[in-house]
Amino acid sequence: MTETLELSHWIGGEKIAGSRPGESLNPSDTRQVVARTPKGGAAEVDQAVQAARAAFGPWADASPEVRSDILDRAGTLLMERREAVGRLLSREEGKTLAEGIGETARAARILKFFAGEALRLHGQNLASTRPGVEIQTYRQPVGVFGLITPWNFPIAIPAWKIAPAIAFGNTVVIKPAGPTPATAEALIAILHEAGLPGGVVNMVIGDGDVGRAIVAHPDVDGISFTGSQKVGAGVAEGAMKRQARVQLEMGGKNPLIVLDDADLERAVAIALDGSFFATGQRCTASSRLIVQDGVHDRFVAALAEKVEALRVGDALDPTTQMGPAVTEAQRQTAYDYIDIARDGGGRVLAGGERLSLDKPGWYVQPTLIVDTQADARINTEEVFGPVASTIRVASYEEALAVANGVEFGLSAGIVTQSLKHARDFQRRARAGMTMVNLATAGVDYHVPFGGTKKSSYGPREQGFAAADFYTLTKTSYSAG
Ligand code: NAP
Repeated sequence: MTETLELSHWIGGEKIAGSRPGESLNPSDTRQVVARTPKGGAAEVDQAVQAARAAFGPWADASPEVRSDILDRAGTLLMERREAVGRLLSREEGKTLAEGIGETARAARILKFFAGEALRLHGQNLASTRPGVEIQTYRQPVGVFGLITPWNFPIAIPAWKIAPAIAFGNTVVIKPAGPTPATAEALIAILHEAGLPGGVVNMVIGDGDVGRAIVAHPDVDGISFTGSQKVGAGVAEGAMKRQARVQLEMGGKNPLIVLDDADLERAVAIALDGSFFATGQRCTASSRLIVQDGVHDRFVAALAEKVEALRVGDALDPTTQMGPAVTEAQRQTAYDYIDIARDGGGRVLAGGERLSLDKPGWYVQPTLIVDTQADARINTEEVFGPVASTIRVASYEEALAVANGVEFGLSAGIVTQSLKHARDFQRRARAGMTMVNLATAGVDYHVPFGGTKKSSYGPREQGFAAADFYTLTKTSYSAG
């Protein structure tokens, strides 16, 4: 599929296009325009919020069964079309075809999971301190949510925000990320095809201005943002100013500790997956490898060999193991951090050179940099690319201190055969998710997701925890 798609905003169930000055490109071959896009702003956001507000009453009052059925149908349609939609995703974002199809299937399962959750929403009966008084809690829809999403999971993240929002009776205005609007649009179109009433899900395409307008709009009751820490901090400030609900999922600098007693082969496989798959463009990527002295040299040598062997290429080529960076800017960031790490005394053991293939694309060599200092910039700032660094430590305690020594706290992993260290790590790692003998990336879609420190803010995403953000808990007292 090489045709160029012509995208529109979705407002009140209608496609609104106008001129299409924007475009998304194929990062594997930048001569190909994947989609031409309109450029929305405050006016389109206002129209979309009005449409969402108008749809809110009937949608909130609809039977949960109606909401459940629509999500279930949409999940079925998306699963049936996972190959085509996954191909579009890979073509627009640059992750491999297997990753693109896998992510699309995941989005379909998320829709189906929340189809079930729509029927499971529940409150509590609570004892009162006063005789004859009964207390119940109810969960009610909140209103209109603004959803601002990144490009690195261009269908799964929109799905895991839209699905709980609408399952529990809210309506939404979503802004897809600049580089990946076509993938998000495929989801919105399928939801409508499944019978979603107009105005329940609205989408405005554009740049940061659209995000800013959503955050500032007085009729948006809550904002769920996933993206960088820098933009997220501004979103939080804007939301707080008018006391809108806000949930932020942001960056990570996720540590993977490898202890002396680790199974070496397993540790290498875990690090390779955590650091390089999806081109390292995962908020949960294992970007800091903290390795104990006794295993250090053997571990880095074995990992470097695997990294060198990774086949980088066109995302749609089934033999490709790692696709390109999503944009030129993202590729440049990876290059910059490789230089920063070198300047800081790091030694490049694999990759590190500029890469050009037989077609113009934003390809990057997967890169492993060893002998870096724990407090160097390469180990404290998010790269968001296929660049991993190693830090040598003498003991478990030192490893834990290094792991906890950054301002992010999304996911943290350890590879060890020691139950004592694994348990201790689960308790003391300052991260929202801990992984024992698993990569820091790779999370299930039906359990709470989120971090601590500067990685996340507000209630958890995914699983039943999503109800805490997308519903209002009302406490009702009554006496006979
Ligand atoms: P980003 O630059 O922060 O953008 C995120 C979204 O915000 C995009 O839709 C973007 O629009 C929009 N935006 C830009 N400026 C805005 C503003 N001033 N106000 C409101 N919205 C604005 O992040 P990204 O580059 O797309 O994504 C990469 C980041 O996402 C990484 O830091 C990664 O760790 C993080 N991430 C976190 C998680 C998690 O769950 N913790 C998951 C995935 C990714 P444009 O695209 O049009 O600029």
